[in-house]
Amino acid sequence: MRVVKIAEQDNVAVVVAPTPGGEPIEGTDLHALCDIPQGHKVALVDIRKGDPVIRYGVVLGYALEDIPAGGWINEHNIELPSSPEVKDLVAGFKGRFPESVPERKTWMGYDNGPDLPAGSRNMLGIITSVQCVAGVVRNAAEKIRREILPKYPNVDDVVEIVHPYGCGVAIKADDADIPIRSVRNVSHHPNFGGQILAVGLGCEKLTMDMILSPEENIPENVIILQECQGYGDMIDRICEAAQRKLEILNKRKRVELPLSKLRVGAQCGGSDAFSGISANPTIGYAFDLLAAGGATVMFSEVTEVRDGVHLLAERCSDEKVVEKLKKEISWYDEYLARQHVDRSANPAPGNKKGGLSNIVEKAMGSIAKSGHSPIVEVIGPGETPSCQGMVFAATPASDIVCGPSQLASGIVMQLFSTGRGTPYGLKAIPVYKICTQHSMKKQWPDLFDLDAGYVVTGEKSIAELGTELYGHILDVVSGERTFAEKYGLYNDIIVFNPAPIT
Ligand code: CA
Repeated sequence: MRVVKIAEQDNVAVVVAPTPGGEPIEGTDLHALCDIPQGHKVALVDIRKGDPVIRYGVVLGYALEDIPAGGWINEHNIELPSSPEVKDLVAGFKGRFPESVPERKTWMGYDNGPDLPAGSRNMLGIITSVQCVAGVVRNAAEKIRREILPKYPNVDDVVEIVHPYGCGVAIKADDADIPIRSVRNVSHHPNFGGQILAVGLGCEKLTMDMILSPEENIPENVIILQECQGYGDMIDRICEAAQRKLEILNKRKRVELPLSKLRVGAQCGGSDAFSGISANPTIGYAFDLLAAGGATVMFSEVTEVRDGVHLLAERCSDEKVVEKLKKEISWYDEYLARQHVDRSANPAPGNKKGGLSNIVEKAMGSIAKSGHSPIVEVIGPGETPSCQGMVFAATPASDIVCGPSQLASGIVMQLFSTGRGTPYGLKAIPVYKICTQHSMKKQWPDLFDLDAGYVVTGEKSIAELGTELYGHILDVVSGERTFAEKYGLYNDIIVFNPAPIT
């Protein structure tokens, strides 16, 4: 039977299909000692009572009895450790880079100047300070795309950043900082090339000075609808400003850039039992290669990593990073506790049946997206990183909230892994979708950019597919279009707002 082993040091692997006792274990001289259900773990070596059980390169728990090689590992024969309290987390400095990295270390992007991440696309962003203006802005953007954009062939698209925040909110609430900085940072996205075109209503709580710098907050950049003479004037003024911005953006050209100018994010959604076996570790491998080359790579989804957070702490590069990790995780625990929501992703009976022995193992399936690199920074939702390397952005796991949060953090491409399938996309950046199994790719051949099913079947190793993915990422940020882009599939910009609505 075919098995998938994730990390070199793992002493267990997962069987990809139901395995009858006596069946040989592919790639080893072992036989299954009993019937092992699909997705469950088989011991690759003799594991003695008290020995660590290692999967994803981390200790999932300790054997409660001797488990001979070929034996079935399940929730009954490993100890179920509880994840430590947040206050007890300590840096372990255990992050590591891959031993060999590809030669290709540059990409073709739009430079935004020293110390700023570069763009993967050249776009005019029309930003908004309140949802009330959304209809006008959408119509104006449509007109610009139809009538003005064709004159500027070097500009890829016009993106209206309409979002639900801005008014009818407790703007001075403690947590209002999260949506405010998210709108501010989305407005300054690397793909918009520093050009500001902002539309406001005039009486909203989120005023332009909260989004823009004093130099940016000038009449050439800002249109306030309550100062316009009717609908026609609104559209005309937005189109005129857009034309001026497009003139400038059209002069931008792709140049060869180092990986240090690149910022890429990942999330998963609609996961299945193979997410943590094929797609997520493949992303993790590619992310490690990118991080080793100096790029910034970002993973998120607090509720999905919560129970493995001590393993993230172990990879933190210094105590300051762990302190920020504690702060963000504690904030999220309290946010959930306010509504009496359980923070733990305790495996449901179905999870255990599917082979996930404990909560740490379940979290590791999601954490696998982050590979093994040192975690150099932890940021809050909508914040931007200040250095290069592996970054944990503490956003919700919700696909449609995590996406815009990472967008605000300045990612210029997002990898999205899924087992069940979703046509999710973001308009301002390429979203690259990876399915976990061949069957999913067969069902939606024209929606998945990569099929990680090759890892399940053994046609490719995680290292092989992860290295391929590394190349695809550099192709996409250099201009190659994803399926979501070709079809114009994108979701709304749902800004994370944990503060009260009034
Ligand atoms: Ca998600």
